[in-house]
Amino acid sequence: MNCNETGTLVARYTDGEIDSLQGRSIEQHLRCCAACAGKHQDVLALRARIGSAVPYFPAPPALRERVRALLANAHEVAPVRPRPERDRWRWLTGGALAGCTATLLAWVVGTAVIDWHANEDVAVEAVATHVRATLNNHLIEVASSDQHTVKPWLSARLDYSPPVQDLASEGFALSGGRLDTLDKQRVATLVYRYRLHTIDVFVRPELAHAPSALRTVRGFNVAHATGAGMDWLAVSDVSADVLTEFVQRLAREAASQ
Ligand SMILES: [Zn+2]
Repeated sequence: MNCNETGTLVARYTDGEIDSLQGRSIEQHLRCCAACAGKHQDVLALRARIGSAVPYFPAPPALRERVRALLANAHEVAPVRPRPERDRWRWLTGGALAGCTATLLAWVVGTAVIDWHANEDVAVEAVATHVRATLNNHLIEVASSDQHTVKPWLSARLDYSPPVQDLASEGFALSGGRLDTLDKQRVATLVYRYRLHTIDVFVRPELAHAPSALRTVRGFNVAHATGAGMDWLAVSDVSADVLTEFVQRLAREAASQ
């Protein structure tokens, strides 16, 4: 067994899909080849990561029955026939490639789910924070429509200085700011009024994984933008398009200053 052969089989070996004879050859190779042993460890780590991060849902009995019926039909339509010798090689290499594709697909899905999970958590947390502040009547700790009052108040209490703008001329009046905790970090929250609505804008230094642009959580819209090295997350019950345009405008204006 050489590195090439092991490389194409290592994912299936990890999943226990290799017969015992081939399995022993791979085992021997893994013991004396650090590169392939590394690949094997990567597959194991990936499997553990997917196992812990991807939600697991047992298939409902109806779905099980449907899959069983489909499989039974497939056997009837395409009866198993002996494969000619040349075909068999093609089938074998195809199987190895399919194994790689399955691993790659699992990795893509796993990573997407992990990112989605993180975004989902921040959006949910932002909405919960907004609702708590509204219900507790604790929306504003520094009340002012003057950005030169709100900004220094926030900067003095954080390890960054959030850009603050008043967009009253566009209908979004700054009414103040407060401090919150989001994603275990202290963040600046800017509070705006738009008609009868309150808009909370959480401003924090830009993250490596940007949350999705727009989400709806418990009827509240959560819109996201980046600009001026900051991450802007707006939460409100105003319509999604108004909120999106507003948060993008804030990020753009901050970036141009
Ligand atoms: Zn090797």
